[in-house]
Amino acid sequence: MIKPLALAHLPTPLEPADRLGAALGLEAGRLFVKRDDCTGLAGGGNKARKLNYLCADALAQGADVLVTGGGRQSNHVRMTIAAANRLGVGATVVMSSDEPARPSGNVVLDHLLAPDFVWAGPLKYYPLEERIAEVCDELRARGRLPYRIPIGGATPVGALGYIDAADEILEQLGALPSLAITANGSGGTHAGLVAGFGDHARVLGVDVGTRPDLDDVVPREASAAAALAARSEPVGEVQVDHDHFGADYGAPTDAARHALHLFATREGLLLDPVYTGKAAAALVTYARDERLPDGPIVFMHTGGVPALFTNTFSEWVKTRPS
Ligand SMILES: *Cc1c(COP(=O)(O)O)cnc(C)c1O
Repeated sequence: MIKPLALAHLPTPLEPADRLGAALGLEAGRLFVKRDDCTGLAGGGNKARKLNYLCADALAQGADVLVTGGGRQSNHVRMTIAAANRLGVGATVVMSSDEPARPSGNVVLDHLLAPDFVWAGPLKYYPLEERIAEVCDELRARGRLPYRIPIGGATPVGALGYIDAADEILEQLGALPSLAITANGSGGTHAGLVAGFGDHARVLGVDVGTRPDLDDVVPREASAAAALAARSEPVGEVQVDHDHFGADYGAPTDAARHALHLFATREGLLLDPVYTGKAAAALVTYARDERLPDGPIVFMHTGGVPALFTNTFSEWVKTRPS
């Protein structure tokens, strides 16, 4: 069993969200928000929990540089660089875009954190994974000891961080949630929660359009994470919603804009347009269609606010839904 590092502020709060619940037709005491946006590492977000385990593994293997990658606005890339800096190892990040003429959002923070950038040009999910592996080979050929972290930190080791989150929720709620809703990028957060709760029925992942094979990956990683943590094999069937990402990964949608408005105006909570806004849009749909199970519902706030500070969204936020 890997002993996690302490890169994150844990436990994160589990906050009641009764005003938001009321707007969604849920009685008081039904809806909670798990504040994993408050994990602290370089602005926070869900990747800190995975990095607790991934970085422990990297140090145990004697790595001297963390290598990962993501889209231009990757929160995972930002937080991985921060973790490397805290640990005193190098960080090389492969970005699946060209270098922007003018940094915005996460890229501003990435520059501050000062990794070695590889601007690989636009690449889809698996070609980017291949490029990350090639960069590791190049570093090895130069005598470095790279630790490869796949996109989003989606490995069984990374998912252990979300078994911890599931345990926190159980303790804070005093019961299992009937449903936890999370944005689904690489799938590791969803997989870890399932491994922690032991039941696929208790987690809904909302596909944000990054990864093509979530329906296969999530159950596979959940089983592997459960085995690593000596938990029982999760029961039930994986639940992934594919109806809320819009035209593409990162594409603005009216439903997400409406969800951002509800969270901001009812609870003072800031969501992002790429991940949490899409998950929140699914929450709104499920509440409206009375598809939420009885019992406590936990919305996973996984972070991502830096993406609001990009050109794509600066006009979009001015539209104010009724
Ligand atoms: C990465 C990310 C997710 C998705 O988590 P996965 O474990 O990759 O599925 C959700 N929200 C935010 C803000 C993220 O950065």
